[in-house]
Amino acid sequence: MAEVIDGKSVAEDVVRTVKALTAELVAKGNAKPGLAVVIVGEDPASQVYVASKSRTAKECGFHSLQHTLPAETSQEALLKIIADLNADPAINGILVQLPLPAHIDAGKIIQAIAPQKDVDGFHFINVGKLGTGELDTAFVPCTPAGSMLLIERVRGKDLSGLNAVVVGRSNIVGKPMANLLLAANCTVTIAHSRTKELPALARTADILVAAVGRPEMIKGDWVKPGATVIDVGINRIPAPEKGEGKSRLVGDVAYAEAAKQAGAITPVPGGVGPMTIAMLMANTLASAYLAAGLKRPS
Ligand code: NDP
Repeated sequence: MAEVIDGKSVAEDVVRTVKALTAELVAKGNAKPGLAVVIVGEDPASQVYVASKSRTAKECGFHSLQHTLPAETSQEALLKIIADLNADPAINGILVQLPLPAHIDAGKIIQAIAPQKDVDGFHFINVGKLGTGELDTAFVPCTPAGSMLLIERVRGKDLSGLNAVVVGRSNIVGKPMANLLLAANCTVTIAHSRTKELPALARTADILVAAVGRPEMIKGDWVKPGATVIDVGINRIPAPEKGEGKSRLVGDVAYAEAAKQAGAITPVPGGVGPMTIAMLMANTLASAYLAAGLKRPS
């Protein structure tokens, strides 16, 4: 059976380190790192994420600011808030919770965030830095950055020559994940909905990352024996066995089958999920170190 990669425990390590490095930064006479989270509208899932981000920011010793705006907020008003946060020296990281209401152009909002405060790593400047290997100053999107840390825990930092298959090509997970694996010297293939013979392709992977959004799509016999399997997917499915109307979370990988083949695998929940917020804290800390003229912590 595969080693279970405990994302919760790795995320707790990251948060502990961020907290210690925050204390060091402040002890040197610098301001606390500041994280501003902006949420527009009442999407319940977004509210849970935002509350959790603000809570973890406080736990790290950050200055944490939350803008909770009504769903009818205009694009102009939101752009004004972003401009004010860009200009605020107490803020090192700005996160606009997605999705935004339909009348707001999310792309325009993301590109309005100052690249040096774009701790989600979605601004073109940060996307370009990641794509060209400028990893010392890039902000990398939190979910792939967290996934990479989990891979490194199992395989080490140099993944030279390993075959990696990333299933999913979104801008927030699949593409940045592929770039990180490439930077770590993997031979990378990106698969998507038009890919042919996906099971056979997946079986070539020493590192298989699933970021699809389809419950348990990746079967046990798609997994190469000994592979490292990173399941980014979070899917809620009905669980009548738990009672009427109940549900449970599953990943994009059929976990029980895949765990028999894999060398190491992330569970859902408790794998990649907890890493996302932890990496947001790490990015905000990095931004604060860079703003203070210090070397970014590794
Ligand atoms: P998107 O919907 O943006 O992208 C899904 C990708 O999967 C697309 O590239 C799509 O291909 C591909 N795909 C869809 N169906 C198939 C198929 N049958 N075979 C092969 N590829 C397929 O999703 P995200 O990248 O945003 O998220 C992916 C998953 O990760 C979701 O479950 C999401 O909830 C989860 N997630 C988890 C996070 C965490 O914190 N753990 C954070 C972010 C996301 P195409 O481009 O051709 O349409």
